[in-house]
Amino acid sequence: MEIKEKSSTVHIEVVKCRTCESKACVEACKKYARGILELKDGVPSVEHLSKDEVLRLGTECLACEFACTFQGNKAITIDVPVAGLPEYLAKRGLA
Ligand code: SF4
Repeated sequence: MEIKEKSSTVHIEVVKCRTCESKACVEACKKYARGILELKDGVPSVEHLSKDEVLRLGTECLACEFACTFQGNKAITIDVPVAGLPEYLAKRGLA
């Protein structure tokens, strides 16, 4: 599942969520942000919100990724594109 926020994209491998006992991402989202993640059929979801609501309410706080990494099944990755970074890394020989 992909969740598009203003400047980032949250990827959740929901197949890993089915065996997750903590569902820590949902609690972290409620505690540290605006609680846009809800459980639906045992996996995190934003289906109860429109795309515009996700964009407006998403805080890009990364709490879900942190919680999932340490208390869940490592199902979340977040892409945060940084303009010019690939070119900078290539120039420095780090790409
Ligand atoms: S904490 Fe991670 S593995 Fe568990 S439900 Fe949330 S995203 Fe899925």
